[in-house]
Amino acid sequence: MSRKERPVCRRCGGDWGTVSSALGLCPECLLSEGMEEEEVSEVHKRWRSPFGLPAMPPRTRGGNRCRMCGNLCFLGEGERGFCGLRVVERGKLMHLAGDARHGLAEYYHDPLPTNCVAAWICPGSRARGKRNLAVFLGACTFDCLFCQNAQYRVLTASLAPIVSPEGLAEAADGSTECICYFGGDPSPQMPFALKASRLALERRGGRVRICWETNGSMHPGLLRLAMDLSLTSGGCVKFDLKALDPGLHRALCGVDNRRTLENFRYAASRIPERPDPPPLVASTLLVPGYVEAEEVGRIAAFIAGLDPDIPYSLLAFYPRHAMCDLPVTSRRQAEECLEAAREAGLRRVHLGNVHLLA
Ligand code: SF4
Ligand code: SF4
Repeated sequence: MSRKERPVCRRCGGDWGTVSSALGLCPECLLSEGMEEEEVSEVHKRWRSPFGLPAMPPRTRGGNRCRMCGNLCFLGEGERGFCGLRVVERGKLMHLAGDARHGLAEYYHDPLPTNCVAAWICPGSRARGKRNLAVFLGACTFDCLFCQNAQYRVLTASLAPIVSPEGLAEAADGSTECICYFGGDPSPQMPFALKASRLALERRGGRVRICWETNGSMHPGLLRLAMDLSLTSGGCVKFDLKALDPGLHRALCGVDNRRTLENFRYAASRIPERPDPPPLVASTLLVPGYVEAEEVGRIAAFIAGLDPDIPYSLLAFYPRHAMCDLPVTSRRQAEECLEAAREAGLRRVHLGNVHLLA
């Protein structure tokens, strides 16, 4: 992109070389002045309406409430939830997928080690000749502009493929060391994933690790059940903490991060039940300009305040989805973020996706 074509900040007019055209604001203006709710809605609408998804979690007065995640949608007749998996028909909240009967997901086996964000601390990733059963879930409770797995939206829009928990559990054969739910996100489909996991554990006599890669927005009761399974099976819960600043989080991900942070605190409280291997891992995507050393330092201080030994993985960003016009994470940014995380008190910090660094 030539300098002339580069987007400029609509508030200060500055061209920092890292202004995302999707946001139209430079990081400085976004962090210092924030965005109004209507502005956030406008930005996200553009990327969601082609998939039939509402720009913001619906708040219809007198509507049916869904409690499955922190968005707490209130749905009027015929309205779809923010994740696209709940709808109200004849006054009743219906699950299009993600309840205990059926899930919206694709799955496949990956030989270990994979590029799992916990691979550097998980003994499972070193299991010779074994495989990970990767479960790509087709919906999400966030709308991150930098989403690295944006294709999940195609599954949400088409509501296919639909799979049963029994069918998924059968795929956990003798070569399966671990099952990892990602996507998309497990949050709007926890009842499905929990049932499939229990069936797989039964089938395998408990010999399969149950892992979750999540934005952490699920109902706390569902997180408790997920942690029970991970703790007893040798698996872990991987929280992707996108940003700590609530305004920055809302702008980048479309919704707020309160539930994620509350859930992370809860997950940290369960570490003493099985400190090794760690049942909780955190990660953050280093989005150029928007998630730099200062923000990473804040996230790291939050984590370290709970337990300085929680492993924290910093991930290189690759231009995708609504943020195709940003550069890849530079080595300079990655090293500054690494240092900020260590200075905040974390003892186990790791740089992932190093092959992507510019
Ligand atoms: S799971 Fe979350 S996003 Fe989906 S309808 Fe329920 S509250 Fe809304
Ligand atoms: S939480 Fe993950 S899958 Fe969902 S929109 Fe954000 S980056 Fe994409």
